Amino acid sequence: MLFKILPKSELAGLFAALSENDIIGPVHKGDNRAGTPLFDFARVTDFDTLRLDFTSTVHSAKRFVLPYRETLSTFRITKDSWEKQVDFNIERPFVLFGLHACDINALNKLDKVLMGSVYPTPYYAAKRRNMFIIGIDCIPLSSCFCRSMGTDTALTGFDLFLTDLGERYFVEIRSAKAFQFLKGLSLSDPADSDHDLYLDKNTAMNAAFVAHVETSDLTKILDLEFESPVWKDWGARCLSCGTCANVCPTCYCYGVEETVALDLSSARKEKQLHSCNLVDFAEVAGGHNFRPESASRLKYRYYHKHRGFVEAFEESLCVGCGRCGRSCLAEINVPDVIASIRHEEMVSDR
Ligand code: SF4
Ligand code: SF4
Repeated sequence: MLFKILPKSELAGLFAALSENDIIGPVHKGDNRAGTPLFDFARVTDFDTLRLDFTSTVHSAKRFVLPYRETLSTFRITKDSWEKQVDFNIERPFVLFGLHACDINALNKLDKVLMGSVYPTPYYAAKRRNMFIIGIDCIPLSSCFCRSMGTDTALTGFDLFLTDLGERYFVEIRSAKAFQFLKGLSLSDPADSDHDLYLDKNTAMNAAFVAHVETSDLTKILDLEFESPVWKDWGARCLSCGTCANVCPTCYCYGVEETVALDLSSARKEKQLHSCNLVDFAEVAGGHNFRPESASRLKYRYYHKHRGFVEAFEESLCVGCGRCGRSCLAEINVPDVIASIRHEEMVSDR
């Protein structure tokens, strides 16, 4: 890793150097009812519309590697044969310009599943291999708990990481490609005063955390509390809307749909992201539903994130971004659910 200092005025130059590729970054998407600005990731062609001072985005950047709906293949059918076509521009490179550490770690977790040996997903892998990622530091919202999940800093999974030091950025350079793009910009070595500012920034970030999830012994506690009435209480509140999985940067469950044209001349296979909270998620052919109650669906979402994934990969599938809690109309959030299962005071009651 190489550390450099980049004047803020030079960042537009980096944007221009990268602009032969599609650039995706945080932009302002209006305000909520309380007048608080809302941000989301979108394609950006004008540097001035990038909002690197964003707090969090409503949706994660997941949809650019794992779209909600994606055509896997199309088929042309004739009387005697059929021809399969797979051509979806999946090798086109793009830039994610401004990802917080939690979202970089979320992609690292998705890689373990979708680029591993168990569920290799070539569509995801092709996009992932063609990404250039610029990370940016943040000050957490009161609902963020990435620190509890160990995802408040990113050590891998980015090309460049920027920390805002006022008039300049402290730059961590992780890839040779990043170094090439920075050539020609006025980089300098960090002075002792820059190190001090960087550490001050870290202290300010750590002091801003409000929400917390106690993860010690959590897999064991979840095993013990599998039949806890707490799941029924949360299930009674859940609307089974699926929004939590929709906004989550690490939810990857999907269904596959095959459709054939009425004249039998063509067919299409499509993948659609699913949510384990939706009523029909565990419904199988013949109509039997293995999880008809919202309580069991909600419970399994928590067991996948905080127990099953930990058993498989020795880390949680939750990065503590807080998006699910902020988006949930029933005010169900991870810190409260985990606190209740541990018989601790809930964050929202403090
Ligand atoms: S937990 Fe909230 S966001 Fe998720 S399905 Fe239930 S009501 Fe919807
Ligand atoms: S479960 Fe919620 S807090 Fe955890 S990564 Fe998903 S959206 Fe973020």
